Amino acid sequence: MSQLTDTVLELHGVLTRIEALNKQVNEVPASMKELQQEHDSTQAEIEALRAIIDETEIERRSAEGEAVELTTKADGYQAQISDVQTQREYGALLSEIDTSKGQAKESEERAIAATERHDEAAKTLEELTERFKDQDQAYQEQLAEWESQRPGVKKELKAKDAEAEALRQALPAQARAIFQRLYDMHDGQPLARIVSVDRVNKKAKAIWRCSECNYSIRPQLVVEVRTSEEIVLSECCRQKILVIEDPITE
Ligand SMILES: [Zn+2]
Repeated sequence: MSQLTDTVLELHGVLTRIEALNKQVNEVPASMKELQQEHDSTQAEIEALRAIIDETEIERRSAEGEAVELTTKADGYQAQISDVQTQREYGALLSEIDTSKGQAKESEERAIAATERHDEAAKTLEELTERFKDQDQAYQEQLAEWESQRPGVKKELKAKDAEAEALRQALPAQARAIFQRLYDMHDGQPLARIVSVDRVNKKAKAIWRCSECNYSIRPQLVVEVRTSEEIVLSECCRQKILVIEDPITE
């Protein structure tokens, strides 16, 4: 294996590690994401319940107010009964009393229903608040742990950055430029590995394939990768750097 292939492989390994470390520094870990979602959804539920409690409280007061008003109205009509002169007036008054009493009863029922909804929401809120306390505690603990790991990650990141830079400088200028261009172009996956195919007949000629597309690779190309001090590109995959990862015995 050529010195160049060694350096390319090592550089790729370091860059892959740097990407993982950067992710660790910048992204919330998956385990915390789940906890965060639970945390947020409970919080949203709590807010919705608080809104219901407020609404039903207003609804109850307004219904109770209406009931009092309508009862007072009915009482007023009741007081007028002794003053009526005609049968027609009497009938009309009784009808007014009936209507007001009926409406007062409806308002009272609305007030009771609002109270029931209010109490139910309050009970659920109490349970949720208790659950939220536990969730919040677990979340804060994980958050603290994650924060405490970050200095170590940042330290390793700094060391790996220096390592990557040293490896880049170890490459010839042209190889360095090609590597960087293809690394960016292929989202950090610029390599195509040469894999030797196991033959049943050990004396048979060696066969090599590309790890990316499985196409066979010409033996001359394999020799070139082994000996060249410049980057060799694959012929099968578009613009990938050919490397031989494991020493192939002949
Ligand atoms: Zn290929």
